[in-house]
Amino acid sequence: MSKLLPVDEALARVLAAARPIAESMTLPVLDALGYVLSAEVTSAIDVPPADNSAMDGYALRAHEAGQALPVSQRIAAGRVGTALMAGSAARIFTGAAIPAGADTVVMQENCTEEAGVVTVSGAVTVGQNIRPRGQDICAGDTVLDRGRVLRPQDLGLLASVGCASVTVHRPLRVAVLSTGDELIEPGSGELPEGAIYNSNRYTLAGLLRTLNMEFVDCGIVADDPDATAGALLDAAARADCVITTGGVSVGEEDHVKNQVERHGRLDLWKLAIKPGKPLAFGRIGDTPFIGLPGNPTSVFVTFCLIARPFLLKMQGVDEPEPPHLQARAAFVVNKSGARQDYLRVTLESTPEGLVATKFSNQSSGVLRSVSHSNALAVIPPGVTVAQGDRVEVMLLDLIA
Ligand code: AMP
Ligand code: MG
Repeated sequence: MSKLLPVDEALARVLAAARPIAESMTLPVLDALGYVLSAEVTSAIDVPPADNSAMDGYALRAHEAGQALPVSQRIAAGRVGTALMAGSAARIFTGAAIPAGADTVVMQENCTEEAGVVTVSGAVTVGQNIRPRGQDICAGDTVLDRGRVLRPQDLGLLASVGCASVTVHRPLRVAVLSTGDELIEPGSGELPEGAIYNSNRYTLAGLLRTLNMEFVDCGIVADDPDATAGALLDAAARADCVITTGGVSVGEEDHVKNQVERHGRLDLWKLAIKPGKPLAFGRIGDTPFIGLPGNPTSVFVTFCLIARPFLLKMQGVDEPEPPHLQARAAFVVNKSGARQDYLRVTLESTPEGLVATKFSNQSSGVLRSVSHSNALAVIPPGVTVAQGDRVEVMLLDLIA
């Protein structure tokens, strides 16, 4: 058996080969969810722009809080008050700017107002209930760095500094080609004998959509050298990266390997990974190419572990690798393997922390194991697991 390439080494190699796309575009912030910033955003203003009240109440001078204070003005959010005369208080509402001279806000629950005069109960300290100017962001601060995938809260943050549009990388175009004479598309009639439905195309379309990348659908290609060559060249011309499924083993019906070698450059690896041993990486002409295995479960796992970080780096993302968490195993692994195993598990939160339960059938032919799980438990080569042992897990919500 040829040497198996460890997953980390394969990942390091593909990441070293990934070149972020240069093209950018400008988008309204409202439309920028999921895009990747190609330039950092700095703030031109302080947020909040002025000291303002965190409460409905009265603004006054803290050292005058023991006196009955005439209420000299009323300042609602959006209004600008006048300087506070000594020996008086301002009625103030949440979000309104603190008038000059006042150094504290007393919440209305601790105040009594009668005939235009307010008295305060309880201790009053300087600065209480005041949100200071610039407490969130100061003018000149970097609000978000380049390489960041924009989340909903980031859109809000950009808006809070008055930013109406952003410069982002254009979405990567990723061509997907399914190889296999046995494949037919759902919706194209009953299954002929010997056929199966093409599921990889759908999994990959969904995975690319969650990454905000463009799915360039190249359909199914027959297990034939010329058809494979034609389809690969066509895919490479239409996309920034080509992903194929199936046909990367060394069987007589596996043509992807030879055709990529003919029209580009290829590294074929036997990865120390389970599910999903054969994986190809290279170029068709100048277009990066990733050949995933055929088994649907292997496609999912190898995409998440190798293709996803590669594509994210091409997309300009700074940290393309997902975080790992820890959980307690509610299963055993009695026999250690030569490959790093990615068990499909369900994580549950218990008072003792996260607990991982293994899906019953871990065969690489069982796609249900992915659909009915919410995480992958990483079992390194040569490792056995006893009930209750700590294992590393990757949440599917963070990678798929
Ligand atoms: P291969 O690497 O081409 O030999 O494929 C390995 C296994 O995955 C075979 O059982 C194929 O039938 C299956 N397979 C390949 N491509 C797909 C696909 N697009 N959808 C579902 N199963 C597939
Ligand atoms: Mg095949």
